[in-house]
Amino acid sequence: MIKPRKTLEAMKEYDPPLEKRKGKLRLDFNENTLGCSPKVIKALREINSEEISAYPEYGKFIKNLTSYLNLSEREILLTNGADEAIQVVMSTYLDKGEEVIIPAPTFAMFQVYASLSGAKITSVLYNGDLSFPTKEVLKRITTNTRIILLANPNNPTGTVIREEDLIKILEKAQNSLVLIDEAYWQYYGKSAKELISKYDNLVIIQTFSKAFGLAGLRLGYVISNEAVIKNLKKAISPYSVNSLAIIAGSAALEDLNFVDNCVKEVKERKIILIRELKKLGIKTYPSKANFLLANFGKQYKKVYEELKARGILVRDRSSYPLLKNCLRITLGTKEQTKKVVTAIKDILRVRVLLFDLDGVLVDVSKSYRVAIKKTVECFTKQRISFEEIQKLKEKGNYNNDWDLTEALITKKGSKVSRKKITKKVQEFYLKNRENEKWLLKKKILEELYRKYKLGIVTGRPREEAEFTLKKKRVNDYFDVLVTLDDIPPEKQKPDPYGIKLALDRLKGSDAVYFGDTIDDMEAAKNAGVGAIGVLPFSAVSQNLKSLLKKAGAKLVMDDINQIFEVLEK
Ligand SMILES: *Cc1c(COP(=O)(O)O)cnc(C)c1O
Repeated sequence: MIKPRKTLEAMKEYDPPLEKRKGKLRLDFNENTLGCSPKVIKALREINSEEISAYPEYGKFIKNLTSYLNLSEREILLTNGADEAIQVVMSTYLDKGEEVIIPAPTFAMFQVYASLSGAKITSVLYNGDLSFPTKEVLKRITTNTRIILLANPNNPTGTVIREEDLIKILEKAQNSLVLIDEAYWQYYGKSAKELISKYDNLVIIQTFSKAFGLAGLRLGYVISNEAVIKNLKKAISPYSVNSLAIIAGSAALEDLNFVDNCVKEVKERKIILIRELKKLGIKTYPSKANFLLANFGKQYKKVYEELKARGILVRDRSSYPLLKNCLRITLGTKEQTKKVVTAIKDILRVRVLLFDLDGVLVDVSKSYRVAIKKTVECFTKQRISFEEIQKLKEKGNYNNDWDLTEALITKKGSKVSRKKITKKVQEFYLKNRENEKWLLKKKILEELYRKYKLGIVTGRPREEAEFTLKKKRVNDYFDVLVTLDDIPPEKQKPDPYGIKLALDRLKGSDAVYFGDTIDDMEAAKNAGVGAIGVLPFSAVSQNLKSLLKKAGAKLVMDDINQIFEVLEK
């Protein structure tokens, strides 16, 4: 058996998981998840046989590309993707045993091609917060350094190198090339290409694979001064870029709007993804690229595997230096981002906590109760105490406050139409709803959200429930809200309809319902979920606790803020 070169023999195989990805949600390779410009597809459809049978011609495309980049035609070299660009720079400038500096963690191909050239690799660790280790890199540059390999923005961290730091490196590295891989420059909005006229040791690499969405066609290029480009040309095979890539690249350059829109979309989705992951207690790193690196802690493997089982591919980067427990997620469209967020939530949180709103999460003694009192007094011209209202409520069977008000009016010997009652209660409620108090502490709610799927099942109309949740700035923490409007009149609590609807929407079954009435407890029991009683502030009847227990409450708590003690039981 003939052995390969010694340097190659010592190398590990680089084996990215590239197969069986089509049709899945590909958030693993930082491709453009919006695809490519329709103009590219159109141009490729119109191809003729000569364009296939003849060797490729590059002149016209180079003209267009350099005019897009504002460069001279002698400052560019087309390559078979950025990968070949990296390789050709190394095979042009590196002899066996020569020194290169590669920060870590970074793009894997730097190491692959450097090893292949037999280079002596100096690895410089990124800072702990994954910012670029400028000082350390500067310290390591010597007269023996041949190439410094940098990615900006960096992959897989997404973090960037500031221009002033790049300049420091270019100035110190008098005897070495500084290669900057700018695969994600459109997302960053910055390139160092203007510096090539000032620094003859600067080499920049860009690609059509990412923002332009042409990864499958393999089209990249090197930007540098004329002398460097001339040398690289000697080392590269003359037709390494094929005709289809040229046709596609030309069409892509005619639709820069497509790229602008993708960049904008990615920016918007990034904000959402960061925010949603943060709510789940997952740390992300500041990224200027079309992906986010996120630390999932001990759960990372489970998240990775379960996402995969759901057809969502992300990249496991946990074996890289400094990236323990980290996964890299490519940013996609609104729907794609929502899909991955929903899936992650679903994977990290299995149990469901459902809450009644009034009396449990919100103290309504100064809003709904006042509205009931005033309505009864307005129609009956008799005074009624809060105790009297609460007593009747505790008896159960009043699904909402209108039923309760009607019953109180009847009890006082008056008869008023349901329509009038509803209108009046509503009127008084709107006047008093500013006085409602949110009961569950924000810190506790945030912590609950990280561990459980949360939902509300209430007899309130949707508008009134949403108003309160938004006003108290807690609407973001509830995954589902089931209101009076979602439940047919005959299916109100104690019917399990509302609770079952919430469970359906949350795709959960292991659940607990927190309520303050007998009906709440029965609804939970009827839905087959655990029932926990919460004594409302307005509770008067000494035996509400035992009534709730009798109705099926496993436990009755005095204050919703004791929830963690209860859940641990
Ligand atoms: C994706 C990527 C490349 C590869 O680009 P191709 O043009 O597809 O070869 C190069 N460098 C970095 C940093 C990348 O993330």
